[in-house]
Amino acid sequence: ETLSNSFSSALKKIRFKDDEKALKKALAELKKSLLKADVHHKVVKELLQRVELDTKAAGIGRDSFLKALQKNLTQILTAPGKQGFVYASKPPTVVLMTGLQGSGKTTTTGKLANYLKLRGKKVLVVAADLQRLAAVEQLRQIAQQIDVDFFGEEDEKDPVKVVNDALKLAREKLYDVVLIDTAGRLAIDEALMEELKRVKEAANPDEVFYVADSLTGQDAVRSAAKFNEDIGITGVILTKYDGDSKGGVAISLAHQIGVPLRFIGTGEKMPDLEVFIPERITNRLMGAGDIESLAEKTAAVIDEKQAKKISKKIAKGKFNFEDFLEQLESMKKMGSLKNLISMIPGMGNMAKAIKDLDLENSKEIKKIKAMINSMTPKERKDPDLILKNNSRKRRIAQGAGLSQQEVNKILKQFNNAAKFAKKFAGKKGMQDMQNLMK
Ligand code: GDP
Ligand code: MG
Repeated sequence: ETLSNSFSSALKKIRFKDDEKALKKALAELKKSLLKADVHHKVVKELLQRVELDTKAAGIGRDSFLKALQKNLTQILTAPGKQGFVYASKPPTVVLMTGLQGSGKTTTTGKLANYLKLRGKKVLVVAADLQRLAAVEQLRQIAQQIDVDFFGEEDEKDPVKVVNDALKLAREKLYDVVLIDTAGRLAIDEALMEELKRVKEAANPDEVFYVADSLTGQDAVRSAAKFNEDIGITGVILTKYDGDSKGGVAISLAHQIGVPLRFIGTGEKMPDLEVFIPERITNRLMGAGDIESLAEKTAAVIDEKQAKKISKKIAKGKFNFEDFLEQLESMKKMGSLKNLISMIPGMGNMAKAIKDLDLENSKEIKKIKAMINSMTPKERKDPDLILKNNSRKRRIAQGAGLSQQEVNKILKQFNNAAKFAKKFAGKKGMQDMQNLMK
């Protein structure tokens, strides 16, 4: 069970009658779900104390409790430092990707390269993991898949040589960013740390990212601390924060390492990478979903200008069928729909039910597309024209080969979705969350 799930059910159980006994019960529920989600007991203790204090200070009640929880969770998730990807003042920005074997270094190197490429950067990925069999080939294939330049040296044994050669090339060819994939081990050992120290010295990186597997729970926290001690890290990327991840490890990591979480990996595909933003994670953990991440993910695929235009439209309640078609097309380019859906407020459970919805072949989507194709350009831009006009509905139904009932149903769904989206785009955060849980 994920933290978000156990949180939602725990929070639903909380009924306040403005007294201390109710607060104690609420705190007990919270404690249970945090511990179940693998949050370190010290962090749980601290968080509960802060929530109790803040709730009492504001006057015991459901609202003050939720507000205190949101505030303190966010605070714990916020380690001082940078957010997302930060470019060096003088290119190329050099990034060392470190971590244990299987944590997701190579995949995440590809994801980051993809993320930067979509933002117009010239990126070079460098295969400096010469330990793991076929690691060089794995990165080469990923680079090819996302159409990013790759640097590797067949039969070379010394990663320092690879790094030196790669950086020379990167300076000559004016790359914006160089991402260096390094070797891991199954467990931390001297040889690994020695190699990494040498590689770091050669690379003189702007960032050292520690890639941590969220499924390894407290082990991830311990090894991140050790890497920070020995090598010095500037950020953590938490992978496999999808599926079976309990989610609590983010809280422990942020609390105990003192280095900011920068990105999270939410799936195996290249687009499954998100900037780590504490407020968003808090809202998602508390079951409130996350419209902003959704918008950002969309922005990586369509261009940012268009994404801004669309979120503005949503906020004004002016999202129309044309936008919908565009969204559908760009969603096809994104990673699994399941992740996207889980970001929509209140849809966490639905996401669980959906495996990977096939956008291309879904019957519903085909119907909607047929319907939109039968509309005039004016109708596509203004759904209201159809809503109030039976002869238009009849014409569209005929053109699309649908019954009028089906057309009505789709229109209603569309209208509800637009209203829903407007509500969440308009006023954010706490209030939405509380409304949802009422
Ligand atoms: P490395 O040994 O650290 O380079 O790890 P790899 O990049 O080879 O990844 C190990 C496995 O984890 C692969 O099967 C990846 O597909 C998988 N993986 C990496 N990141 C994620 C993630 O965010 N979510 C999921 N579900 N799988 C991931
Ligand atoms: Mg690897």
